Amino acid sequence: MSYVDQVLERVVAKNPSETEFIQAVKEVLESLRVVVEANEEKFKKEALLERITDPERIISFRVPWVDDSGNVQVNRGFRVQFSSAIGPYKGGLRFHPSVNQSIIKFLGFEQVFKNSLTGLPIGGGKGGSDFDPKGKSDREVMAFCQSFMTELNKYIGADVDVPAGDIGVGAREIGFLYGQYKRIKGLYEGVLTGKGLTYGGSLARTEATGYGLVYIVAEMLKNVKNDSLAGKKVVVSGSGNVAIYATQKAQELGANVIALSDSNGYIVDEDGIDLDLVKEIKEVKRGRIKDYVAAKPSAKFVEGKGIWSVPCDIALPCATQNELDLDDAKTLKENGCFLVAEGANMPSTQAAVDFYLENGILFMPGKAANAGGVAVSALEMSQNSLRLSWSFEEVDARLKDIMVNIFTKVDDAAKRYNLEGNYVAGANIAGFEKVVEAMNAQGIV
Ligand code: NDP
Repeated sequence: MSYVDQVLERVVAKNPSETEFIQAVKEVLESLRVVVEANEEKFKKEALLERITDPERIISFRVPWVDDSGNVQVNRGFRVQFSSAIGPYKGGLRFHPSVNQSIIKFLGFEQVFKNSLTGLPIGGGKGGSDFDPKGKSDREVMAFCQSFMTELNKYIGADVDVPAGDIGVGAREIGFLYGQYKRIKGLYEGVLTGKGLTYGGSLARTEATGYGLVYIVAEMLKNVKNDSLAGKKVVVSGSGNVAIYATQKAQELGANVIALSDSNGYIVDEDGIDLDLVKEIKEVKRGRIKDYVAAKPSAKFVEGKGIWSVPCDIALPCATQNELDLDDAKTLKENGCFLVAEGANMPSTQAAVDFYLENGILFMPGKAANAGGVAVSALEMSQNSLRLSWSFEEVDARLKDIMVNIFTKVDDAAKRYNLEGNYVAGANIAGFEKVVEAMNAQGIV
């Protein structure tokens, strides 16, 4: 049995019920086969893949808090510190009822390679809780965040582990978390990113993931097809942070974004999404995407999944994991879609990814396509260390450079292994190579 297969068997045996984690490890190791085969004996002797698939540390803790009716609620908190090979652990916090150890481990594992791809000195981690901020009062969210940080603060620090936002963790939550960290530690340090601009945040961090996604799409179109986003019909799933700013940048570059969604359903506006209206609904009123049609009756709302049946040239899944399956991929292709790039983490199932690769759909996986968020988080850390704030234009220009560099690295790595155009392999290989080099230099750790 090959070394990759042995390690895959081990991962399944050691993490039996962790389906998302196993899915992510399989996807990465499958595409690393070519690299591992070229170094099989050495990697096996050093148990390199065993080390890379086992997190350095998993922290799990109780989060008790009091709701507005005076009842005590208990949630579970997690922080998975996956790899510190190339820098302090770095990765977001997710607050969503679906959160469990498997989901946090899959996200932490992917984060290691993503962070490596940015070219910046950041290791990989991820955390979160099964707490649902939706429908909670600000006081309840604050009570939860303070309790969560009362435990988490023991394990993080500006040079140790620097969490950020993710699903369910936006500016409000980061503010409450930061305030509590500062109170407990008595330290004003860059321990979280995605902070507000008045207390150490970076300009362009809010926009970074969505903008970065569109920058890499533009680079891919230019390189592969000598084309641009101008006039392309784009469907974006989700209507949160990543979806909103991907839509904004795509529109700026001349694309026509016609659909957005949330977990209740999707809207289609053939005139082009009115983003000011979406921001008003989602960011100011914390409403639902269906509220869009009340203000814009020419648009339609369709309940349930199904956004991938809307014909488009480019699909940008920006909601959550496994939101786009094989049938969706086939429907996209039948309707003429020629490019998929992932704003979310692992939104396409493995079968969908295989379909893109076998059917000539240009595909950029999340760990490359959505790396702009963590890249600007790392720039926020730099600014905090320097006690400086860079302008929006400066951060945005660096973000653009980083995304163009990621495309080049991913494209080159794929070509080196005769896998031209396979950016899944390219991203995994390029991310992996740097982590392995750093691990080797540091001895058996
Ligand atoms: P937000 O919480 O701001 O938005 C998430 C969006 O996805 C909402 O519209 C939400 O709808 C929808 N969604 C969540 N879960 C589901 C589900 N099970 N089914 C359908 N829709 C769902 O999160 P972000 O925009 O920050 O994150 C979106 C994705 O991007 C995630 O995969 C995240 O890991 C990834 N990402 C985010 C980065 C960032 O900087 N924020 C960086 C890199 C990756 P609803 O309100 O109905 O739940």
